[in-house]
Amino acid sequence: MKSPSLTTRSHLVIGYMILAFGWWSFHLWRQNDRVFEKEKKILELKYPNVDYTYATQYDIAENTWESGRRMVIAEGLFFTACLIWGLWVIRRSAFREVGLARQRRNFLLSITHELKSPIAGMRLVLETLGKRELSKEQRTPLISNGLKDADRLQNLVESLLLAARLEDNWRPLHEPLDFKKLVQDAADSLRIRFPEAKFQLEIPEHLPPVQADQMGLCAIVQNLLENALKYSPEGAPVTVSAEQSNGKFRFRVADLGQGIPDDEKQSVFEKFYRMGNEETRHSTGTGLGLYIVKHVLKAHEGQVKLSDNQPQGTVFEVELPG
Ligand code: ATP
Ligand code: MG
Repeated sequence: MKSPSLTTRSHLVIGYMILAFGWWSFHLWRQNDRVFEKEKKILELKYPNVDYTYATQYDIAENTWESGRRMVIAEGLFFTACLIWGLWVIRRSAFREVGLARQRRNFLLSITHELKSPIAGMRLVLETLGKRELSKEQRTPLISNGLKDADRLQNLVESLLLAARLEDNWRPLHEPLDFKKLVQDAADSLRIRFPEAKFQLEIPEHLPPVQADQMGLCAIVQNLLENALKYSPEGAPVTVSAEQSNGKFRFRVADLGQGIPDDEKQSVFEKFYRMGNEETRHSTGTGLGLYIVKHVLKAHEGQVKLSDNQPQGTVFEVELPG
């Protein structure tokens, strides 16, 4: 027989505690009343023909009875408050634990997949090159596929390293960067993986350089553009616009893809969080991209906002101190 889960067992224990406490409170309350009734009977016997409620002993008995009631009420309230607080602490840690377990599971599933497929790809390329005498025309696409797999592995390792460094009080450099060039470079490198990619750049020609960490800003742009392509139908345009005003540098990445539901808009920035189910999902990834975006921006004292695009898709708006 299946043993009850931890939640069921803790609910049973809590239920028992509430019932036991209720029973003891009721019992104490009745005991207190009985003692008072007895005191009254004794006074009745002691002063048979007079109103004993004027006697000092009656006052004492009444005061003891009232303070007994107050004690039961005060302890009851204190115990209930402690119980509610305890329940809240347990619930919070349980949710945190479930979240961490889910994060670990997602990480293991996605990292295993992300490591396995490029390794398998490179192995296949090397085996084919080793076994057969191939012409230069046959070798070229094979080598380019192998290089793509190596790039994928390198990106993964770099993302893991960057995520680890971000947790270690990472301090960004503030270098003057040409944003348009940075976006064009990111777009060019993504076109290798997404040959159908269409980017619409709405970046003014003479946009002043943005002060940011080169590696950090590249990671932000690369991740946002990659997501915009990865979670949109093939060939759907991705628009990147930028402006500098009021001492702030702002840019937007808008896509016409599947969009992000309101209840997932916060979670997507969590480490290793990926929408949907790991077993049924088709897109590759580890759930580190937006975590990196958020934390690189935090280190720059910047921020990222996420909203729905029209008629569909997602808009990421980034703001950096100019
Ligand atoms: P990685 O970036 O590490 O390769 P990933 O893309 O899954 O993996 P994130 O970039 O952190 O991870 O994104 C987290 C999740 O948010 C994604 O799995 C996806 O479900 C959702 N998401 C991110 N960007 C978009 C987007 N532009 N449109 C729709 N969904 C998105
Ligand atoms: Mg991503």
